[in-house]
Amino acid sequence: MAVSDHVDLSTFMEGVKKRNPGQTEFIQAVQEVAQDVYDFISDKEEYHTAQILRRIAEPDRVVSFRVCWEDDNHNIRVQRGWRVQNNNAIGPYKGGIRFHPSVTESVLKFLAFEQTFKNSLTGLPMGGGKGGSNFNPRGKSDSEVMRFCQSFMTELYRHIGPNTDVPAGDIGVGAREIGYMFGQYKRITGRWEGVLTGKALEFGGSQMRPEATGYGAVYFLRNMLQHQDQDIEGKTAVISGAGNVATHAAEKITELGGKVLTMSDSGGFIHDPDGIDQEKIDWIKKLKNERRGRISEYADEFSGASYHEDERPWNVECDLAMPCATQNELNEDEAKALVKNGVQAVSEGANMPTTLEGVHVFQEAQIMYGPGKAANAGGVAVSGLEMSQNAERISWNQERLGDMLTDLMEGIHEKCVEHGKDGEGNVNYVKGANIAGFKKVADAMLAFGVV
Ligand code: NDP
Repeated sequence: MAVSDHVDLSTFMEGVKKRNPGQTEFIQAVQEVAQDVYDFISDKEEYHTAQILRRIAEPDRVVSFRVCWEDDNHNIRVQRGWRVQNNNAIGPYKGGIRFHPSVTESVLKFLAFEQTFKNSLTGLPMGGGKGGSNFNPRGKSDSEVMRFCQSFMTELYRHIGPNTDVPAGDIGVGAREIGYMFGQYKRITGRWEGVLTGKALEFGGSQMRPEATGYGAVYFLRNMLQHQDQDIEGKTAVISGAGNVATHAAEKITELGGKVLTMSDSGGFIHDPDGIDQEKIDWIKKLKNERRGRISEYADEFSGASYHEDERPWNVECDLAMPCATQNELNEDEAKALVKNGVQAVSEGANMPTTLEGVHVFQEAQIMYGPGKAANAGGVAVSGLEMSQNAERISWNQERLGDMLTDLMEGIHEKCVEHGKDGEGNVNYVKGANIAGFKKVADAMLAFGVV
């Protein structure tokens, strides 16, 4: 007779903290999910007996490896690389690769854990994983980035495959890095196969993949607003970041009649009261993707705009807020400032950008708040469609993929409403996303027995 794992939430979290010492980001992510899942499974003995939550919060495996490369001055450099394979109950591991000096095992474990729920929410057959390195691509030449990517893939290739684990891009990993890594995988294995997503169109990439996360986060924002009979048109938006997600979010907000006031990078933010229109967004894309410059240069280029060094944009008055840079970039005080200034809705393009305390501020103020695992799932959803296209050796056109993305985001929004609405019609999107994401993975795990 199995012994039921009926420990209460705080005992469960004590165990997570004890088993993962110092891994603050991972513990934060588990805490955020556990509180909702605990409510949901309170009367569902089978999930307790099978210890499902405990098992999802323990990665299937964490691979850590040395990445050695030579810089342009012939110095030997040593970095650390990881792949966290969190859970493959519903499909091959899937999740991006991040190159940034802030990358640690804790950060990647939190991202892989979150990815498991996000991928489940898309409705596509994808498990959760994440990888990366503490390598900093900033200031490196193309040759240095190439040598690093090749060395990284020389170790990673043995752990991935189109039916095993399919990585993609993330912070610091864009089209250039995916190209170098895909080339090295092909060279080592001698196989052309859909082992990475986010590829360029010339070698198996999908239309809409670069746009998907940012556009999807705006669609989710629109879905939340429409649920309350509102729309984006005529509203002001504050966005953080100036990378892939942020620039595409800005593009879609602008296209739908909103006015984007800010963008940022790790140096500070720019505020443009005239609005950051398509022409200015194109300028930012060139700045970041080609010249690899800093956002501060925007204020020199466009009159009327100001640059705020070492500051984040959350004190700027706005109707809509979209954190699209990195984790924990919006804290409790900043959430309070947004609420005080009348923000109506927040949609997270980044992963876990709002601290737990900040989330509570939004929830108490009954702001429409779309957490990253739901709002930014459009990127991985189109990655899933890239896998399907590669497997079938076909490519779908932009229009078809655009429609599929819109439908996928609508489906995710509906699942959040189904599991997150209370008796008065308010929707707790965090709860909805956590429960809907959990249920599918948990039921698959139950079907497998104890594995
Ligand atoms: P990019 O590398 O294209 O852009 C990241 C942006 O965030 C840059 O402007 C960068 O500034 C800024 N940034 C990074 N780290 C920090 C930091 N510690 N403090 C302040 N700003 C920072 O990455 P993406 O746009 O792809 O990713 C952004 C977020 O979206 C991440 O949380 C990622 O996990 C999430 N996401 C991305 C998906 C995708 O499809 N790309 C899918 C789903 C989620 P700087 O140049 O100065 O470093």
